[in-house]
Amino acid sequence: MSGPGERLDHFMARANAAYYAGCDPFVDFITAPEISQMFGELLGAWVAVVWDRLGRPDPFMLVEAGPGRGTLMADAQRLLRRVAPACHKAMRLHMIETSPRLRGVQAHALRDATAVPVCWHGDLRDVPDGPMVLLANEFLDALPIRQFVRRGQGWVERFVRDGAFMHAASDFPAGHPACVRPVPEGDVLETCQPALDFVHALGTRLLRWSGAAALIDYGYDAPAWGDSLQALRDGRPTDPLQGPGSADLTAHVDFRAIADHVPRGVDVWGSVTQGDFLAALGLAARTEQLARAAPAQADEIRAAAMRLAAPDRMGQLFRVMGLSSGLAGDLPGFVGRRAGDGTGRGETR
Ligand code: SAH
Repeated sequence: MSGPGERLDHFMARANAAYYAGCDPFVDFITAPEISQMFGELLGAWVAVVWDRLGRPDPFMLVEAGPGRGTLMADAQRLLRRVAPACHKAMRLHMIETSPRLRGVQAHALRDATAVPVCWHGDLRDVPDGPMVLLANEFLDALPIRQFVRRGQGWVERFVRDGAFMHAASDFPAGHPACVRPVPEGDVLETCQPALDFVHALGTRLLRWSGAAALIDYGYDAPAWGDSLQALRDGRPTDPLQGPGSADLTAHVDFRAIADHVPRGVDVWGSVTQGDFLAALGLAARTEQLARAAPAQADEIRAAAMRLAAPDRMGQLFRVMGLSSGLAGDLPGFVGRRAGDGTGRGETR
């Protein structure tokens, strides 16, 4: 390859498309729904309460972006069928997934969990019109990023050639909020346009037909810089530039940039930490309920709850941002945490 090589976001998009098409991601890393059924159940309960606050629209679209193995939605469906049959009946189920292989895995996971048909789409814009509740766990972190490196008074962009970074002049996004302060020489700034496009399209839909979304991911909620690109293979960090398609490439989500791209008129909630969000949704009570029902597994169930919510595990690094439009009262899980109210913004990374 001549020139500076392949732009990082193009490299990442190609690598992840190959990875999700050919590998089972979950041998390389474990996500919250794979840790415990409680994660999907609590989100299922959240959907039911949100649907009620939206005025019980019938029908409404329940959408998941980047469903992986389909575990979160299968657990949510089992709960909805059992405890919120009216919500389950009004629901139309739509999955946003680009990997044909993972679509098959999701269909299998959902086959016994829900009695309703499931539709797959490659893009949010293809989901039919109507009120919507959307869930996305570790979806935004998989979307391709660009990286810019501070050089003197300007910026160069990172490209990939022969498994190494090259740098070249490029069109740096002028007025990026991270640049209001002086940026030290050599520091890295990341942008993720597909994530911004996604929340813009999502917000536009919510404004038009009402609805809500919970975006869960690891990331930060203040203008920040630093290289957060990472690759995991067999649960261990590996060089992200080697063997594209053989490891999952992710980057931390910039929740502040996300919030700034939500169309005006949509309420933005948080972000809050995953620990606080799951506590507000009743993780402790559900843990003890399951532990009582299965005493032989009580230690395991409590350990899983700790892993999801403890600050030194996933409870602090993972954050949840809510969006809503046309909802009566505060968005469940984010009470008093509407962004712009002076309480909604979390700590920095
Ligand atoms: N939510 C799941 C899986 C996260 S892995 C969990 O919590 O376990 C990321 C998921 O997003 C995979 O299903 C992957 O195939 C999907 N994905 C990645 N890029 C995508 C894109 N551009 N459009 C739609 N889905 C995408």
